[in-house]
Amino acid sequence: MNPNIFLIVIDTLRWDYSDPIWDVLKKWGFRSYDRVVASAPWTLPSHASMFTGLYPSLHGGHETLAGDVYPIRKSVRRRLITKILGDLGYKCYGFTANALITPAFGFNYFDHLREKIYSIDPLPIFSEDLKYLKMVKEDGIKKYIKLTFKYRKTRLASKIMLRYMLRKTHLHSLYSVITRKHVDKGAKHLIRDVEGRLKSNIKPLFVFINFMEVHEPYSIYELLKPGYSIKYLMEKGRGDPKIISYWRRGYRRQVLEITRRIRELMERIDEENYIDNSLIIITSDHGQLLGEYGGLINHIAFLYDELIRIPLFIKYPEEIEAKEIDDDTRWLSNIKIYDIILSVIKSMRHNKIFNISKIYMPKVYSESFGIHTMPIRRCRSEEECKFLRYNKRRVAVYYKQYKLVYDLDTARVEEYKDYNGLGISEERIEELIRYVKNHAKLIMLTGRIRIGK
Ligand SMILES: [Zn+2]
Repeated sequence: MNPNIFLIVIDTLRWDYSDPIWDVLKKWGFRSYDRVVASAPWTLPSHASMFTGLYPSLHGGHETLAGDVYPIRKSVRRRLITKILGDLGYKCYGFTANALITPAFGFNYFDHLREKIYSIDPLPIFSEDLKYLKMVKEDGIKKYIKLTFKYRKTRLASKIMLRYMLRKTHLHSLYSVITRKHVDKGAKHLIRDVEGRLKSNIKPLFVFINFMEVHEPYSIYELLKPGYSIKYLMEKGRGDPKIISYWRRGYRRQVLEITRRIRELMERIDEENYIDNSLIIITSDHGQLLGEYGGLINHIAFLYDELIRIPLFIKYPEEIEAKEIDDDTRWLSNIKIYDIILSVIKSMRHNKIFNISKIYMPKVYSESFGIHTMPIRRCRSEEECKFLRYNKRRVAVYYKQYKLVYDLDTARVEEYKDYNGLGISEERIEELIRYVKNHAKLIMLTGRIRIGK
Protein backbone atom coordinates (compact mmCIF):
# COMPACT_ATOMS: atom_id res chain seq x y z
CA MET A 1 0.00 0.00 0.00
CA ASN A 2 1.18 3.54 -0.74
CA PRO A 3 2.29 5.52 2.32
CA ASN A 4 0.66 8.82 3.25
CA ILE A 5 3.01 11.74 2.72
CA PHE A 6 3.38 14.88 4.79
CA LEU A 7 5.69 17.65 3.54
CA ILE A 8 5.89 20.31 6.22
CA VAL A 9 7.87 23.46 5.50
CA ILE A 10 8.77 25.80 8.34
CA ASP A 11 9.37 28.90 6.24
CA THR A 12 12.62 30.80 6.96
CA LEU A 13 13.96 28.32 9.58
CA ARG A 14 17.74 28.30 9.78
CA TRP A 15 19.53 25.00 10.13
CA ASP A 16 21.49 26.22 13.17
CA TYR A 17 18.32 27.33 14.99
CA SER A 18 16.37 24.10 14.56
CA ASP A 19 17.47 22.18 17.70
CA PRO A 20 14.28 22.81 19.74
CA ILE A 21 12.27 21.23 16.91
CA TRP A 22 14.58 18.24 16.72
CA ASP A 23 14.14 17.70 20.48
CA VAL A 24 10.38 17.42 19.91
CA LEU A 25 10.61 15.15 16.87
CA LYS A 26 12.98 12.53 18.31
CA LYS A 27 10.23 10.86 20.27
CA TRP A 28 8.24 10.18 17.11
CA GLY A 29 11.14 8.33 15.50
CA PHE A 30 12.36 11.04 13.14
CA ARG A 31 15.90 11.08 11.78
CA SER A 32 17.82 14.32 11.36
CA TYR A 33 19.89 14.94 8.22
CA ASP A 34 22.89 17.16 7.91
CA ARG A 35 24.58 18.90 4.96
CA VAL A 36 21.26 19.87 3.35
CA VAL A 37 21.23 22.87 1.00
CA ALA A 38 18.30 24.87 -0.38
CA SER A 39 18.32 25.54 -4.12
CA ALA A 40 17.65 29.26 -3.53
CA PRO A 41 17.54 31.81 -0.69
CA TRP A 42 13.81 32.55 -0.79
CA THR A 43 10.36 30.96 -0.89
CA LEU A 44 9.22 30.66 -4.49
CA PRO A 45 12.27 29.07 -6.18
CA SER A 46 13.04 26.85 -3.19
CA HIS A 47 9.50 25.45 -2.90
CA ALA A 48 9.29 25.03 -6.67
CA SER A 49 12.48 22.92 -6.47
CA MET A 50 10.93 20.66 -3.84
CA PHE A 51 7.80 20.32 -5.98
CA THR A 52 9.58 19.67 -9.31
CA GLY A 53 12.94 18.14 -8.38
CA LEU A 54 14.70 20.80 -10.46
CA TYR A 55 17.02 23.73 -9.83
CA PRO A 56 15.37 27.19 -10.20
CA SER A 57 17.03 27.88 -13.58
CA LEU A 58 15.24 24.78 -14.91
CA HIS A 59 11.80 25.12 -13.29
CA GLY A 60 11.81 28.87 -14.02
CA GLY A 61 9.96 29.99 -10.87
CA HIS A 62 12.41 32.67 -9.76
CA GLU A 63 13.41 36.35 -9.74
CA THR A 64 15.48 38.28 -12.28
CA LEU A 65 17.96 41.15 -12.09
CA ALA A 66 15.29 43.46 -13.49
CA GLY A 67 13.12 42.82 -10.43
CA ASP A 68 10.59 40.50 -12.12
CA VAL A 69 9.32 37.28 -10.57
CA TYR A 70 8.13 34.39 -12.76
CA PRO A 71 5.89 31.44 -11.85
CA ILE A 72 6.96 27.83 -12.47
CA ARG A 73 7.23 27.25 -16.24
CA LYS A 74 4.10 25.73 -17.76
CA SER A 75 6.23 23.11 -19.54
CA VAL A 76 7.48 21.63 -16.26
CA ARG A 77 4.21 21.70 -14.34
CA ARG A 78 3.38 18.19 -15.49
CA ARG A 79 6.16 16.91 -13.28
CA LEU A 80 4.88 18.66 -10.14
CA ILE A 81 4.83 16.27 -7.21
CA THR A 82 1.08 16.98 -6.84
CA LYS A 83 0.48 15.83 -10.43
CA ILE A 84 2.62 12.68 -10.12
CA LEU A 85 1.03 11.71 -6.80
CA GLY A 86 -2.45 12.50 -8.13
CA ASP A 87 -1.80 10.08 -11.00
CA LEU A 88 -0.80 7.45 -8.43
CA GLY A 89 -4.16 7.81 -6.72
CA TYR A 90 -3.22 10.27 -3.98
CA LYS A 91 -5.50 13.07 -2.79
CA CYS A 92 -3.35 16.19 -2.54
CA TYR A 93 -4.07 18.79 0.11
CA GLY A 94 -2.22 22.04 0.65
CA PHE A 95 -2.38 24.26 3.72
CA THR A 96 -0.36 27.41 3.25
CA ALA A 97 0.25 30.59 5.19
CA ASN A 98 2.50 31.85 2.38
CA ALA A 99 0.74 33.43 -0.60
CA LEU A 100 3.50 32.29 -2.96
CA ILE A 101 2.57 28.60 -2.72
CA THR A 102 -0.57 28.99 -4.79
CA PRO A 103 -1.66 28.25 -8.39
CA ALA A 104 -0.86 31.88 -9.32
CA PHE A 105 2.83 30.89 -9.09
CA GLY A 106 2.40 27.52 -10.78
CA PHE A 107 1.68 25.26 -7.79
CA ASN A 108 -1.18 23.38 -9.44
CA TYR A 109 -2.85 19.99 -9.09
CA PHE A 110 -3.91 20.29 -5.46
CA ASP A 111 -7.29 18.66 -4.88
CA HIS A 112 -7.79 21.21 -2.17
CA LEU A 113 -5.65 24.20 -1.21
CA ARG A 114 -6.33 26.11 1.97
CA GLU A 115 -4.75 29.54 2.25
CA LYS A 116 -4.48 31.26 5.58
CA ILE A 117 -2.62 34.42 4.84
CA TYR A 118 -2.27 36.18 8.16
CA SER A 119 -1.21 39.68 9.05
CA ILE A 120 -0.19 40.85 12.49
CA ASP A 121 -0.63 44.45 11.34
CA PRO A 122 -3.10 46.23 13.66
CA LEU A 123 -3.87 48.82 10.95
CA PRO A 124 -3.68 46.95 7.65
CA ILE A 125 -3.83 48.83 4.36
CA PHE A 126 -5.42 46.63 1.72
CA SER A 127 -4.33 46.42 -1.88
CA GLU A 128 -7.62 47.92 -3.11
CA ASP A 129 -6.68 51.08 -1.19
CA LEU A 130 -3.31 51.44 -2.83
CA LYS A 131 -4.79 53.08 -5.95
CA TYR A 132 -6.16 55.91 -3.76
CA LEU A 133 -2.80 56.38 -2.15
CA LYS A 134 -1.24 56.66 -5.59
CA MET A 135 -3.86 59.22 -6.63
CA VAL A 136 -3.07 61.39 -3.65
CA LYS A 137 0.26 62.94 -4.50
CA GLU A 138 0.36 65.84 -2.02
CA ASP A 139 2.04 65.39 1.30
CA GLY A 140 0.80 66.33 4.72
CA ILE A 141 -2.67 67.26 5.80
CA LYS A 142 -4.01 67.80 2.26
CA LYS A 143 -3.64 64.08 1.64
CA TYR A 144 -6.05 63.20 4.44
CA ILE A 145 -8.55 65.88 3.44
CA LYS A 146 -8.55 64.59 -0.12
CA LEU A 147 -8.97 60.96 0.98
CA THR A 148 -11.73 61.87 3.41
CA PHE A 149 -13.78 64.19 1.22
CA LYS A 150 -12.92 63.63 -2.43
CA TYR A 151 -12.64 59.84 -2.30
CA ARG A 152 -14.80 59.33 0.81
CA LYS A 153 -12.16 57.04 2.30
CA THR A 154 -12.50 58.08 5.93
CA ARG A 155 -11.27 54.82 7.36
CA LEU A 156 -8.20 54.75 5.15
CA ALA A 157 -7.37 58.37 6.00
CA SER A 158 -7.64 57.70 9.72
CA LYS A 159 -5.53 54.55 9.44
CA ILE A 160 -2.78 56.49 7.68
CA MET A 161 -2.97 59.21 10.31
CA LEU A 162 -2.76 56.65 13.14
CA ARG A 163 0.15 54.82 11.54
CA TYR A 164 1.94 58.14 11.16
CA MET A 165 1.32 59.09 14.77
CA LEU A 166 2.42 55.72 16.12
CA ARG A 167 5.63 55.96 14.16
CA LYS A 168 6.47 59.56 14.93
CA THR A 169 5.52 59.70 18.58
CA HIS A 170 7.12 56.40 19.51
CA LEU A 171 3.75 55.24 20.80
CA HIS A 172 4.57 52.05 18.95
CA SER A 173 6.70 51.10 21.96
CA LEU A 174 3.41 50.43 23.72
CA TYR A 175 3.09 47.56 21.32
CA SER A 176 6.25 46.03 22.74
CA VAL A 177 4.00 44.24 25.20
CA ILE A 178 2.43 42.47 22.21
CA THR A 179 5.68 41.81 20.41
CA ARG A 180 7.25 40.18 23.46
CA LYS A 181 4.67 37.46 23.13
CA HIS A 182 4.84 34.66 20.62
CA VAL A 183 2.98 35.61 17.48
CA ASP A 184 0.72 33.13 15.70
CA LYS A 185 0.86 33.72 11.96
CA GLY A 186 -1.74 31.17 10.98
CA ALA A 187 -0.38 27.87 12.36
CA LYS A 188 -3.18 27.42 14.87
CA HIS A 189 -5.88 27.55 12.18
CA LEU A 190 -3.89 25.53 9.66
CA ILE A 191 -3.41 22.69 12.18
CA ARG A 192 -7.14 22.71 12.88
CA ASP A 193 -7.79 22.45 9.12
CA VAL A 194 -5.30 19.59 8.74
CA GLU A 195 -6.93 17.75 11.62
CA GLY A 196 -10.34 18.12 9.98
CA ARG A 197 -8.94 16.63 6.78
CA LEU A 198 -7.29 13.69 8.61
CA LYS A 199 -10.58 12.85 10.31
CA SER A 200 -12.17 12.19 6.91
CA ASN A 201 -9.77 9.22 6.72
CA ILE A 202 -8.97 9.43 3.01
CA LYS A 203 -5.87 7.39 2.09
CA PRO A 204 -3.38 7.66 0.56
CA LEU A 205 -3.00 11.38 0.95
CA PHE A 206 -0.34 13.99 0.36
CA VAL A 207 -0.42 16.88 2.81
CA PHE A 208 1.70 19.95 2.19
CA ILE A 209 1.91 22.60 4.91
CA ASN A 210 3.76 25.92 4.97
CA PHE A 211 4.08 27.64 8.35
CA MET A 212 5.10 31.31 8.42
CA GLU A 213 5.73 31.76 12.15
CA VAL A 214 9.51 32.19 11.80
CA HIS A 215 9.29 34.56 8.81
CA GLU A 216 9.55 38.30 9.45
CA PRO A 217 8.00 40.66 10.60
CA TYR A 218 9.09 40.30 14.20
CA SER A 219 7.40 43.42 15.49
CA ILE A 220 4.37 45.60 14.92
CA TYR A 221 6.69 48.56 14.31
CA GLU A 222 8.08 46.96 11.14
CA LEU A 223 4.56 46.76 9.78
CA LEU A 224 3.95 50.44 10.26
CA LYS A 225 6.71 51.03 7.72
CA PRO A 226 5.92 48.81 4.72
CA GLY A 227 8.90 46.95 3.34
CA TYR A 228 10.73 47.94 6.51
CA SER A 229 13.57 45.46 6.49
CA ILE A 230 14.44 46.11 2.86
CA LYS A 231 14.21 49.86 3.42
CA TYR A 232 16.46 49.50 6.44
CA LEU A 233 19.10 47.86 4.31
CA MET A 234 18.67 50.58 1.69
CA GLU A 235 18.81 53.53 4.04
CA LYS A 236 21.24 52.38 6.68
CA GLY A 237 23.27 49.88 4.74
CA ARG A 238 24.41 47.58 7.49
CA GLY A 239 25.05 47.35 11.16
CA ASP A 240 22.41 49.03 13.34
CA PRO A 241 22.87 46.92 16.51
CA LYS A 242 19.46 47.85 17.91
CA ILE A 243 17.57 46.53 14.92
CA ILE A 244 19.73 43.44 14.77
CA SER A 245 19.15 42.50 18.40
CA TYR A 246 15.42 43.11 17.83
CA TRP A 247 15.42 40.67 14.93
CA ARG A 248 17.47 38.08 16.84
CA ARG A 249 15.16 38.19 19.83
CA GLY A 250 12.07 38.01 17.64
CA TYR A 251 13.50 35.15 15.61
CA ARG A 252 14.31 32.99 18.66
CA ARG A 253 10.89 33.69 20.12
CA GLN A 254 9.19 32.61 16.90
CA VAL A 255 11.27 29.40 16.69
CA LEU A 256 9.87 28.46 20.11
CA GLU A 257 6.36 29.31 18.92
CA ILE A 258 6.59 27.02 15.88
CA THR A 259 8.20 24.28 18.02
CA ARG A 260 5.06 24.30 20.16
CA ARG A 261 2.90 24.12 17.02
CA ILE A 262 4.91 21.27 15.50
CA ARG A 263 4.41 19.27 18.70
CA GLU A 264 0.69 20.00 18.45
CA LEU A 265 0.59 18.94 14.80
CA MET A 266 2.45 15.69 15.53
CA GLU A 267 0.00 14.90 18.33
CA ARG A 268 -2.92 15.39 15.90
CA ILE A 269 -1.25 13.16 13.29
CA ASP A 270 -0.63 10.54 15.98
CA GLU A 271 -4.17 10.70 17.38
CA GLU A 272 -5.63 10.18 13.91
CA ASN A 273 -3.40 7.10 13.39
CA TYR A 274 -1.30 8.51 10.59
CA ILE A 275 2.10 7.94 12.21
CA ASP A 276 2.96 4.35 11.29
CA ASN A 277 2.03 4.37 7.62
CA SER A 278 3.31 7.83 6.71
CA LEU A 279 6.41 9.45 5.32
CA ILE A 280 6.72 12.74 7.22
CA ILE A 281 9.26 15.28 5.98
CA ILE A 282 9.84 18.43 8.02
CA THR A 283 12.18 20.99 6.50
CA SER A 284 12.59 24.66 5.66
CA ASP A 285 12.81 26.58 2.39
CA HIS A 286 15.65 28.95 3.36
CA GLY A 287 17.13 30.66 6.40
CA GLN A 288 17.40 34.25 7.56
CA LEU A 289 20.26 36.72 8.01
CA LEU A 290 20.21 38.13 11.54
CA GLY A 291 22.97 40.71 11.39
CA GLU A 292 25.82 38.55 10.07
CA TYR A 293 28.34 39.87 7.50
CA GLY A 294 28.47 43.35 8.96
CA GLY A 295 24.79 43.73 9.82
CA LEU A 296 22.76 42.20 7.00
CA ILE A 297 19.17 41.16 7.73
CA ASN A 298 16.40 39.45 5.72
CA HIS A 299 16.70 36.76 3.03
CA ILE A 300 17.56 38.30 -0.29
CA ALA A 301 20.01 37.60 -3.08
CA PHE A 302 22.92 36.23 -1.02
CA LEU A 303 23.98 32.59 -0.75
CA TYR A 304 25.47 32.52 2.72
CA ASP A 305 25.13 29.35 4.83
CA GLU A 306 22.71 31.18 7.16
CA LEU A 307 20.39 31.47 4.15
CA ILE A 308 20.72 28.20 2.32
CA ARG A 309 21.72 25.47 4.77
CA ILE A 310 18.45 24.07 6.04
CA PRO A 311 17.23 21.44 8.52
CA LEU A 312 15.72 18.16 7.31
CA PHE A 313 13.88 15.72 9.57
CA ILE A 314 12.31 12.55 8.19
CA LYS A 315 10.04 9.93 9.73
CA TYR A 316 9.79 6.88 7.47
CA PRO A 317 6.79 4.56 7.23
CA GLU A 318 7.15 1.56 9.57
CA GLU A 319 6.99 -0.88 6.67
CA ILE A 320 10.29 0.11 5.12
CA GLU A 321 13.81 -0.26 6.33
CA ALA A 322 15.58 3.08 6.02
CA LYS A 323 19.32 2.87 5.55
CA GLU A 324 22.10 5.39 5.39
CA ILE A 325 25.86 5.44 5.47
CA ASP A 326 27.80 7.92 7.49
CA ASP A 327 29.53 9.99 4.82
CA ASP A 328 30.50 13.56 5.49
CA THR A 329 31.74 14.29 1.99
CA ARG A 330 28.38 14.29 0.20
CA TRP A 331 25.57 16.86 0.18
CA LEU A 332 21.80 16.81 -0.21
CA SER A 333 19.99 19.49 -2.21
CA ASN A 334 16.36 20.16 -1.39
CA ILE A 335 15.55 19.47 -5.06
CA LYS A 336 15.96 15.83 -3.93
CA ILE A 337 13.02 15.93 -1.54
CA TYR A 338 11.08 15.09 -4.70
CA ASP A 339 13.21 11.96 -5.23
CA ILE A 340 12.95 10.98 -1.56
CA ILE A 341 9.13 10.97 -1.79
CA LEU A 342 9.03 8.97 -5.03
CA SER A 343 11.78 6.54 -3.94
CA VAL A 344 10.08 5.80 -0.63
CA ILE A 345 6.86 4.98 -2.50
CA LYS A 346 8.84 2.72 -4.82
CA SER A 347 10.61 1.02 -1.90
CA MET A 348 7.27 0.30 -0.26
CA ARG A 349 6.18 -1.50 -3.41
CA HIS A 350 9.34 -3.48 -4.02
CA ASN A 351 12.27 -4.26 -1.79
CA LYS A 352 11.14 -2.33 1.32
CA ILE A 353 14.62 -0.89 1.72
CA PHE A 354 15.23 2.80 1.22
CA ASN A 355 18.77 4.15 1.23
CA ILE A 356 19.00 7.93 1.43
CA SER A 357 22.78 7.80 0.92
CA LYS A 358 22.07 7.11 -2.76
CA ILE A 359 20.21 10.40 -2.96
CA TYR A 360 23.05 12.46 -1.47
CA MET A 361 25.28 13.90 -4.20
CA PRO A 362 28.99 14.70 -4.60
CA LYS A 363 28.16 18.34 -5.27
CA VAL A 364 25.09 20.55 -4.99
CA TYR A 365 24.28 24.07 -6.14
CA SER A 366 22.21 27.03 -5.07
CA GLU A 367 21.13 29.84 -7.39
CA SER A 368 20.13 33.47 -6.96
CA PHE A 369 19.21 35.85 -9.78
CA GLY A 370 18.81 39.14 -7.94
CA ILE A 371 16.73 40.80 -5.24
CA HIS A 372 13.21 39.36 -5.40
CA THR A 373 11.60 42.15 -3.38
CA MET A 374 13.29 44.90 -5.36
CA PRO A 375 11.58 48.16 -4.38
CA ILE A 376 13.47 50.23 -6.97
CA ARG A 377 14.72 49.68 -10.48
CA ARG A 378 17.21 52.53 -10.70
CA CYS A 379 19.04 54.29 -7.88
CA ARG A 380 18.72 57.98 -7.20
CA SER A 381 20.69 58.31 -4.00
CA GLU A 382 23.95 56.90 -2.75
CA GLU A 383 22.10 54.61 -0.32
CA GLU A 384 19.92 53.21 -3.09
CA CYS A 385 22.96 52.63 -5.27
CA LYS A 386 24.68 50.83 -2.40
CA PHE A 387 21.61 48.62 -2.03
CA LEU A 388 21.46 47.94 -5.77
CA ARG A 389 24.99 46.58 -5.62
CA TYR A 390 23.55 43.55 -3.78
CA ASN A 391 21.54 42.86 -6.93
CA LYS A 392 23.70 40.18 -8.54
CA ARG A 393 23.35 36.76 -10.10
CA ARG A 394 25.13 34.25 -7.93
CA VAL A 395 25.77 30.51 -7.91
CA ALA A 396 27.03 28.54 -4.89
CA VAL A 397 28.60 25.10 -5.06
CA TYR A 398 29.15 22.70 -2.17
CA TYR A 399 31.70 19.98 -2.84
CA LYS A 400 33.41 17.69 -0.31
CA GLN A 401 34.39 19.96 2.60
CA TYR A 402 34.29 23.13 0.52
CA LYS A 403 31.92 25.83 -0.59
CA LEU A 404 32.31 28.63 -3.09
CA VAL A 405 29.96 31.46 -4.11
CA TYR A 406 30.55 33.02 -7.49
CA ASP A 407 29.16 36.34 -8.71
CA LEU A 408 28.24 35.71 -12.34
CA ASP A 409 27.88 39.38 -13.23
CA THR A 410 31.37 40.49 -12.34
CA ALA A 411 32.99 37.03 -12.66
CA ARG A 412 34.27 37.28 -9.09
CA VAL A 413 34.55 34.81 -6.21
CA GLU A 414 32.34 36.26 -3.48
CA GLU A 415 32.97 33.70 -0.76
CA TYR A 416 34.83 30.45 -0.18
CA LYS A 417 34.78 28.19 2.81
CA ASP A 418 36.60 25.16 4.06
CA TYR A 419 34.60 23.25 6.66
CA ASN A 420 37.68 21.28 7.75
CA GLY A 421 39.42 24.44 8.80
CA LEU A 422 42.60 23.22 7.09
CA GLY A 423 42.71 25.94 4.46
CA ILE A 424 41.82 25.85 0.78
CA SER A 425 44.38 25.68 -2.01
CA GLU A 426 44.39 27.79 -5.19
CA GLU A 427 43.86 24.59 -7.21
CA ARG A 428 40.79 23.73 -5.17
CA ILE A 429 39.34 27.22 -5.72
CA GLU A 430 39.98 26.87 -9.47
CA GLU A 431 38.23 23.49 -9.42
CA LEU A 432 35.17 24.96 -7.66
CA ILE A 433 35.04 27.88 -10.11
CA ARG A 434 35.05 25.33 -12.93
CA TYR A 435 32.03 23.55 -11.39
CA VAL A 436 30.18 26.84 -11.00
CA LYS A 437 30.91 27.85 -14.59
CA ASN A 438 29.67 24.50 -15.87
CA HIS A 439 26.50 24.96 -13.87
CA ALA A 440 26.16 28.51 -15.28
CA LYS A 441 26.18 26.99 -18.79
CA LEU A 442 23.07 25.04 -17.80
CA ILE A 443 21.52 28.28 -16.57
CA MET A 444 22.27 30.00 -19.89
CA LEU A 445 20.68 27.17 -21.84
CA THR A 446 17.36 27.59 -20.06
CA GLY A 447 16.61 30.91 -21.76
CA ARG A 448 15.17 33.05 -19.00
CA ILE A 449 18.61 34.09 -17.81
CA ARG A 450 21.46 35.42 -19.89
CA ILE A 451 24.83 35.81 -18.30
CA GLY A 452 26.52 38.95 -19.56
CA LYS A 453 30.13 38.26 -18.73
ZN1 LIG B 1 10.20 31.30 2.46
